[in-house]
Amino acid sequence: MEKLDKIDIYLNRTNLEEKIYGISYVFDRVLRLDYSIKFHEFDSYKIYKDGSEVLDIVNEVLSKDSGYERIGVNWERARDNLPFFGSYNYTNGCFDLDIFGSIFYFLSHQHLRILLRDSHDRECLSDEMIFALRRPFLNYYIEQFIIVLGSAINVPLKTEYKGHFNITIDVDHMSSIPNFSKYFKESAKDLLLHKDPLTCLQRLFSYLSLTRDPHDIVKWSKSLSKKYRAELIYFLHKPIGLSKYDRSWVGNSHILQSLLTSNVELGTHPSYYSSNSEITLYSELKAIKEMILAQGTKSFKNRHHFLRYRRETSWKVLESLGFSSDFSIGFSGLIGFPSGICWSYSYWRQDVRRATTIDQFDVTIMDRTVLASKVCSATVKDVISESKKFRGDITFVGHNCLLSRRKEKRKLLKYLSHYYG
Ligand SMILES: [Zn+2]
Repeated sequence: MEKLDKIDIYLNRTNLEEKIYGISYVFDRVLRLDYSIKFHEFDSYKIYKDGSEVLDIVNEVLSKDSGYERIGVNWERARDNLPFFGSYNYTNGCFDLDIFGSIFYFLSHQHLRILLRDSHDRECLSDEMIFALRRPFLNYYIEQFIIVLGSAINVPLKTEYKGHFNITIDVDHMSSIPNFSKYFKESAKDLLLHKDPLTCLQRLFSYLSLTRDPHDIVKWSKSLSKKYRAELIYFLHKPIGLSKYDRSWVGNSHILQSLLTSNVELGTHPSYYSSNSEITLYSELKAIKEMILAQGTKSFKNRHHFLRYRRETSWKVLESLGFSSDFSIGFSGLIGFPSGICWSYSYWRQDVRRATTIDQFDVTIMDRTVLASKVCSATVKDVISESKKFRGDITFVGHNCLLSRRKEKRKLLKYLSHYYG
């Protein structure tokens, strides 16, 4: 850690934990600098070096007496200050954007409409946010702030973040052929809907135990992760109670055997309704954890099925079970940066008003979204290059059932090839 003597950050005590969350993101996680926090009755945040003020940062979002409701109102007004629709101002030692408040606001998901939910009872993105989703605008803010701070204190500063390309696969279907009716249905879909006789034939051979189940994409995904030097993580689904959104568990399937013996990283994928109850979520996570413990997994990763997390239960339970990271935040119909950032962060737990110990990786691109042709190739390219600008993360989400057909694999490869573009 670089030692910068006598960097003091002065702030008032209103919404203190929230402010420190934003400050520590920049100073501990991004810059890894030594600093101290002091208190004062200033409205703004002030930065002092060697006993004199070097930078004054506007305190708009988390200002005096502002509750979270008011932050929402401020966001509506602050919209024009996004780098893409205007810009921040830097004049006479004043940074005219509440950088720490903005970090708190977006990373804690105050921009999601908690009361307004979609058909799967998930929190929705405010309409006005959708247009900003394809830009990691917090990265732009932070980058500008670092330049301004560096020049104010006469020390060139740079971020230390090194991003990952995460190829993550949800194993929602343990087998395409658990019984004859399922085999028949899948084969009919291969032929009639997808016009894919080769996969249909493979399914028949697999049904006769002569070849690999098309739902087993372990070998293919391993070669994909090698090609992109990406981390490969498989999330296993093992629902306790079945619902129409959860498929039956096939404990002795070839896919499971293939996963448990192929040295790929395994994580947990709790069922559709699990996050409605702390007890159900706890039991499911614990059961999958025990299964993958035997495989030698040491750091536990999670993604909720249907991205159906609950801010009130999910992180509390994940922390209590010692999970290290979560990949559940995203919107299945949209690609981009759901929290306005391309770097991982620690999620905010409102019940205890502190950051969690869990590393949050937001979902950037999902197979379902691009394969349904809701998103054009240029958009995928744009999102990937935005993340690369900041050496950020890209988290791709695939499903073993969806990528079981050759055509879908080929289509997807075309999109992912933008990574080298
Ligand atoms: Zn799933």
